[in-house]
Amino acid sequence: MNLYSPATLRYLKEKYGFRLTKSLGQNFLQDPSVIREMIDGSEISGEDLVIEIGPGIGVLTEAAAEAAGYVVSVEVDERLLPILEETLQDCGNVEIICQDILKTDLNSLIRQKREEHGITGKTRIIGNLPYYITTPIVMKLLEEQVEADSITIMMQKEVADRMKAAPGEKDCGAITAAVQYYCQVSQVARVPKEAFHPRPKVDSAILHLKIRPTRAVSVKDEKLFFDCVRAAFGQRRKTLCNALSAGLGRTKDEIRTVLGAAGIEESRRGETLSMEEFAAIANEMAETIDGR
Ligand code: SAM
Repeated sequence: MNLYSPATLRYLKEKYGFRLTKSLGQNFLQDPSVIREMIDGSEISGEDLVIEIGPGIGVLTEAAAEAAGYVVSVEVDERLLPILEETLQDCGNVEIICQDILKTDLNSLIRQKREEHGITGKTRIIGNLPYYITTPIVMKLLEEQVEADSITIMMQKEVADRMKAAPGEKDCGAITAAVQYYCQVSQVARVPKEAFHPRPKVDSAILHLKIRPTRAVSVKDEKLFFDCVRAAFGQRRKTLCNALSAGLGRTKDEIRTVLGAAGIEESRRGETLSMEEFAAIANEMAETIDGR
């Protein structure tokens, strides 16, 4: 059965009385070359554990199962369970868990499955993400410090552009700093809307996020670092001094002292700052204001 073929999806929909739910982001992949790009881009090897987010009818799951040691797929829509039982019946190394990914304790799941299946390789997270929760899923993986080596995910091109932007680029935002603080980001492919059924309104991209063994920059207080990043991008048209003052609830004089000590011009804009400069601001802030 070619899981990516429109005829297969039609057959499954009819047989199981299944209707695609837009609010669950059910845009299924129907292009085998994109499925190949996802699997190749995720660098899965035969000893690896794969955690998949949102298997749908199993197009990526089946391809991942061929490449990996063991695959665990987390799907929230229980109507897909009998379908997946049929489509993945020949894959002996796949397990479906019916759960909301945002409520899943991923690190416990990863530890348990690695032990149960004697996994000696890496842990790879993959998924053609439900677009309505792309950012919450990525932030959950990063903030919970998921015990994985990489995350290879499909998302709206616009969100991918933000995650991979360099300082100074117009797409740069708080999510850029958050993702790049934890990961090295590379784009695997751009994917046109025609690769999905139904077609989404926008094009997509596959990103490979390689989790860094140590963070991109050294910060004294991670929360303060992210508070500074959020404040700097919170009011884009303001100068850095005004944005930080408003976002952090500090006086402009306090912020000027911090920026002066960090060697950063107060008239700059958040999107021009490098990760190192954000770290310098947060570290000065920790000493100059909070350390008083
Ligand atoms: N992997 C399939 C493919 O590429 O054709 C399906 C991808 S589709 C874009 C997103 C999938 O995520 C759907 O199967 C949807 O039901 C599932 N999903 C939506 N919200 C979810 C959640 N909170 N937790 C887990 N899965 C979810």
